[in-house]
Amino acid sequence: MISDWLSEDIMKRGTDTSKEYSLRLDDEDPLSIYRDEFYVPEGTVYLNGNSLGLLSRRAEESVVNVKEEWKELGIQGWTEGETPWFFMSEILGEMMADMVGAKPEEVVATGTTTVNIHSLVSTLYKPSMEKDKILADELNFPTDIYALEGLLELKGFDPEKKLKLVPSSDGDTLDEDKIVEMMADDIALIHLPSVLYRSGQLLDMEYLTEQAHKRNIIIGFDCSHSAGVIPHDLHDWNIDYAMWCGYKYLNGGPGCSAFLYINEKHFEEEPKLKGWFGYEKEKQFELNLEFIHEKSAGGWQISSPAILSSAPLLGSLEIIEEAGLETIREKSKEITDHFIYLVDEVLSEDPYGFEVISPRDSEHRSSHVAVKHEDADAISDLLRRKGFITDFRPPNTIRVAFSPLYNTYHDAWKTVMTIKDIIDKKEYETHEVDADKLVT
Ligand SMILES: *Cc1c(COP(=O)(O)O)cnc(C)c1O
Repeated sequence: MISDWLSEDIMKRGTDTSKEYSLRLDDEDPLSIYRDEFYVPEGTVYLNGNSLGLLSRRAEESVVNVKEEWKELGIQGWTEGETPWFFMSEILGEMMADMVGAKPEEVVATGTTTVNIHSLVSTLYKPSMEKDKILADELNFPTDIYALEGLLELKGFDPEKKLKLVPSSDGDTLDEDKIVEMMADDIALIHLPSVLYRSGQLLDMEYLTEQAHKRNIIIGFDCSHSAGVIPHDLHDWNIDYAMWCGYKYLNGGPGCSAFLYINEKHFEEEPKLKGWFGYEKEKQFELNLEFIHEKSAGGWQISSPAILSSAPLLGSLEIIEEAGLETIREKSKEITDHFIYLVDEVLSEDPYGFEVISPRDSEHRSSHVAVKHEDADAISDLLRRKGFITDFRPPNTIRVAFSPLYNTYHDAWKTVMTIKDIIDKKEYETHEVDADKLVT
């Protein structure tokens, strides 16, 4: 697939495996202007933006500004800061809302992903005698499963009995029809990822939500691997709840504030992980003992916001807004398609033996490509030593993420050719893996 913005000249040439072709794709990439905004670690080809996005100059600036405000204003920064600290979570929520297709009051920057799972599911999971099970999937990110188990235990339930996991037939992807098949009468709530963190499969959230609602089931998605790189319509799809972290494609920095979305139809529900920052915003400082929550996503805040870990998002979200999420998505599809093409052409036959396990249709894929090889651990480690930052997921998967704002088509080409070289020289056969550095 060749996108609209490519010149006729390059379209006529068709895809090829040459370096020149990859460089031409970069020349015609409308997002190439953003690469210079990011600090790409010296000497690296950074292919890990699905785990930790890079620092941009604008994010750096917004943290430095807040640090200066703290220095100069002290406590007055809560109201006098350029972005008043007291409203920063809501302001970031508004900036984010468009990117996920939510109303501004349905999104807030707060807490961390796992805490937000606890906070939302504890509110919306209301088991009855007939409907008391939670449905998730066996490829879900571990922390999501731990959170669901903990929540069931708090209710006095045995997770073995109440948590159902949709199985995967190939160990890499999920079949949406299988998920629907498991939407039994006794399921009260469904918790799924928008994108599977290993294979990068993008689930059809709209379809799954429609099916869940037909059966009177609450449904929510963990959008950590799609926020900032895939547009969503959380509100129009009528999704009940969602959360995502800010440090992957949103480039907000390690452990930065996460986001939560709750559909406005649930605003009257009382939060269960209550805290004073969820109190009616106008009256929070009346300091009443009776808890009355704000009737917006803000009602699900718990503690004082982590201002220094929220500030980078002011800068990093601005870049995404400016670049446009549609353009980001378009490039993400193109660049992952290009990488898959190169893997197929260069690395799939003997003696290379690479297999792409991500969905081949870019409509069903996020922005990383997972490849399998029996010596994936050694190859991933050798790549790291040569400056290619990918990640290894046991037992045999390498994930190669392309962050459209700073990765180039040439990055994809160099990666494939470097792997080819590692295999041509049989370097992996004698390589001792440095296990400490493998999981990133
Ligand atoms: C990255 C990720 C998380 C991270 O959780 P934290 O609480 O931010 O550490 C959770 N769930 C999914 C699906 C993720 O991809």
